[in-house]
Amino acid sequence: MLPISLLFTNTKLSKIGFITEDKCSFCKSESETSSHLLFDCIKSKSFWKDFESYFYSLSKEFVHLTLKDVIVGVIITKCPLLNYLLLIAKIYLWECRRTQILPNITGFKLKVKNKFETEKYVCMKNNT
Ligand SMILES: [Zn+2]
Repeated sequence: MLPISLLFTNTKLSKIGFITEDKCSFCKSESETSSHLLFDCIKSKSFWKDFESYFYSLSKEFVHLTLKDVIVGVIITKCPLLNYLLLIAKIYLWECRRTQILPNITGFKLKVKNKFETEKYVCMKNNT
């Protein structure tokens, strides 16, 4: 799992004097804590709603993600696809924050496609 306590959010960076503003990189209005950035931000919430619809289109399973689900994964049911996509989504959100772009489902789908192509290439190279 992504160790979110290790993320250097704007709140942490401002506390150590690296930057002066602790505002969220996405909404620019709330303090950028890990939980805000990855879940509570209005921009992240919008992304997760689209993520839930995307997951439904893939699996025909409805999910309503909570902060806990996003942070530690869905542990109630065995769902390796959902947990794999959650990992990619968290990495995607952090990359959006790092590159100062707003997260969107189209960008996420492209990242999933790139991951799939990489995994496919590795399988072909290893004859697995
Ligand atoms: Zn925000």
